[in-house]
Amino acid sequence: MGYWEEKREYEERLAEAEFCSVCGRKLTKENVKGMCIECKNIVCNKCGSLKKGKIICSDCIEDIKEREYKEKHKDKRKWNTFSICGFFLSFLFFPLGLIFSIIAINQTKTEEQKGRGLAIAGLIISIFYLFIFLFLLKFTRFF
Ligand SMILES: [Zn+2]
Ligand SMILES: [Zn+2]
Repeated sequence: MGYWEEKREYEERLAEAEFCSVCGRKLTKENVKGMCIECKNIVCNKCGSLKKGKIICSDCIEDIKEREYKEKHKDKRKWNTFSICGFFLSFLFFPLGLIFSIIAINQTKTEEQKGRGLAIAGLIISIFYLFIFLFLLKFTRFF
């Protein structure tokens, strides 16, 4: 969005806004802070604060904090043991690799644990070796 469009949107919203979107108190020329850069709601000077020259409302600050917390929390997820074992076993002994990878895929469904990608890789590699094995089995029967 360009500067003028943004300015126009802000002025339109400012003209429409009667109450602060956070605390609900009546907005006056004296207490209005401006439009929140995140939610585009008009807030009062108690609920809006300046962040890097932009107005942000306390609701959005909370949202951002929560998002950042979740982002951090996501990185702290533990690796699914089956996915790691399944991946390595798929190279060493594919029947076990296959079983471990299937268990890992099931266990990482909710994404509470890391390793879903690894589990899928383990499954594909196991199936690949399974086909080679079956091929060789057929091959040796013929000769
Ligand atoms: Zn307010
Ligand atoms: Zn906001």
